Amino acid sequence: MANFRTHITVACALSGALATTVLYADMATPGEAMALWGIGTVGGLCPDLDSKNSMSQCIVFILCCGLFCLSLGSQLPAVMPLPMAIVTILGSMALLYHQILPRLCAFMNHRGNCHSLLTAVLASLTITNIAAYLLGRGIESAYLIGLFFFGGFLSHLVLDEIYAIDLKHRKLKKSFGTAIKPFSMTAPFSTLMLGALCWLQFWITPSTSSLKMVLSKLTKATLMTLG
Ligand SMILES: [Zn+2]
Repeated sequence: MANFRTHITVACALSGALATTVLYADMATPGEAMALWGIGTVGGLCPDLDSKNSMSQCIVFILCCGLFCLSLGSQLPAVMPLPMAIVTILGSMALLYHQILPRLCAFMNHRGNCHSLLTAVLASLTITNIAAYLLGRGIESAYLIGLFFFGGFLSHLVLDEIYAIDLKHRKLKKSFGTAIKPFSMTAPFSTLMLGALCWLQFWITPSTSSLKMVLSKLTKATLMTLG
């Protein structure tokens, strides 16, 4: 499997190139393109959330805590004084970082469903729905956010699979075939749960005709960039 530095470099380079393409095609403002770049890069770290104490896990935990802290911080001034708000935010972040997130990840097996296309689709649809319904982004913008995350996630899976080919000795490593898979065959219960969640997210997702439109614009812009 590829190491952390390779994953973050490739995800960052691919997302950066795509974000610039989107900017040139007038599909996003400079600020939005920067955010898409970051989302794609984070997507490239997420499959290794199942790898305990990894750098990827640490960074995603910190980002989750930061987002939680921001949303909490925007609500608390209306309901409590500043000192109490600071204690509440710090306490919640510590609980999330040291207890809740590690316990959630403890259920995952390394290279299990977390490293699958099913999770890539589920996470991307969930992020699209959060962007559209909770953050109030337009439908096309929400799909762009989901697509960038999916692209980053997919780059991770492809890289791990490429690194499972031992070119020097012309043989396949033991890990070959475990990086990109539709879902985990060894965890039927979690596959079933993720499949049901995926269907639910797809069901509530905004108009799929907008997705086709975004994909078509993105493809045209990419082809134009390539020449
Ligand atoms: Zn991996």
